[in-house]
Amino acid sequence: MITEALNPFVIAQEQFDIAADLLHLPESLRSHLRVPQRELCVNFPVKMDDGSTRVYAGYRIQHNLSRGPTKGGIRYHPSVSLDEVRALAMLMTWKCGVSGLPYGGAKGGVVVDPKTLSESELERLTRRYASEISLVIGPEKDIPAPDVNTNPQIMAWIMDTVSMHKGYTVPAVVTGKPLNIGGSEGRSDATARGVVYVLSEAARHLSMDLGRARVAVQGFGNAGANTARMLAELGATVVAVSDSRGGVYNPGGLNVDALLTHKRLSGSVVGFAEADQISNAELLEIDCDVLVPAALGIQISEENAPRIRARLIAEAANAPITPAADRILYDQGCFVLPDVLAGAGGITVSYFEWVQGLQEFFWTEREVYAQLERVMTRAFQSVLSLAQQNCVHMRTAAYILAVQRVADAVTTRGIYP
Ligand code: NAD
Repeated sequence: MITEALNPFVIAQEQFDIAADLLHLPESLRSHLRVPQRELCVNFPVKMDDGSTRVYAGYRIQHNLSRGPTKGGIRYHPSVSLDEVRALAMLMTWKCGVSGLPYGGAKGGVVVDPKTLSESELERLTRRYASEISLVIGPEKDIPAPDVNTNPQIMAWIMDTVSMHKGYTVPAVVTGKPLNIGGSEGRSDATARGVVYVLSEAARHLSMDLGRARVAVQGFGNAGANTARMLAELGATVVAVSDSRGGVYNPGGLNVDALLTHKRLSGSVVGFAEADQISNAELLEIDCDVLVPAALGIQISEENAPRIRARLIAEAANAPITPAADRILYDQGCFVLPDVLAGAGGITVSYFEWVQGLQEFFWTEREVYAQLERVMTRAFQSVLSLAQQNCVHMRTAAYILAVQRVADAVTTRGIYP
């Protein structure tokens, strides 16, 4: 029976509290950082293709502005809620803190299943949402990026909408844009590349040969599919993958390129030949060395954590593991690379894109990869040494690093007025 709270914002606050306790954070700072600084809730109408009008709910939440503008993705999903967006915004603050990026965290979301919309409905919804949140976003204020069910085209519509309001082009208002309007080389698979960089560091630390590892990946979108492809390129055996419709499993290894083609043609990994069908719950518990949750939050709780067999987990997804599950996995000897570290590749290259856009000076793919590897490796080493010094798992160590950096910024700036 599950007894822990499964509200994403309660979980986010619990993870923060663990670090705040260890840092002996004063009560004033603690209450400041436990809640988002700004919350914008919008309800807006969209004209549908059949002539009707539907009203959608959306959010843009900025958790903390003390280290720079805020930054974080926009999610389109029917399960988006105020508390989920709050939790994800807070998590983005710590993600930027761990990587040393000069941002606070933000997140946006619209309660919608975009698969039910036509392309033109999706564009009208995006432009109207962008218009509603244009009150709070901007290159110096808050910079959105892609997340679940949003992509470079959606970023282009947001950028164009804001630019039309201003009367001039504002490329740095979003990141994850297409290359032909100021996107960065290496952004489209940056989250996955970041996962692979920190997985390589962790494997070295654990004396594990990543090139011989058996890998399972939950979620086969931007983060998951690219991680599976890159790990396969390193020689790893990808034994299982899944998406929202279910999973496929082959202990001898799945051909990731063929799976990508199958998904492109059929819309899902389900039905892939030469594999057994499994559920998403079964995928998490499969016999493997490395597990990469790359879908939605709250996938591993105290209920299924005892049955997880992977020795190494890299959270490409945001918030897939609950605090109670963290403790169980730690006691089982499972090494978890937390979201705020493992999933930071996307925001790091988003930062590079923002810098390139502001300077109007663009880098080569090689330069982007080299800088990304430097940021990810340095973050991994900083978190690992804090974990060893404090005898805590990697999530708590990452939070200690990030919360301290943000608390220092708040303290140095002081309270206005
Ligand atoms: P995406 O929309 O490209 O892909 C999401 C994938 O998850 C799809 O394959 C979808 O079918 C699958 N999925 C949805 N519900 C599922 C379920 N219940 N079980 C299994 N699979 C399910 O999104 P993405 O950008 O790859 O994001 C995935 C995760 O990675 C999210 O948690 C997101 O916050 C996180 N993330 C993304 C980025 C980025 O740059 N895109 C950066 C950091 C973290």
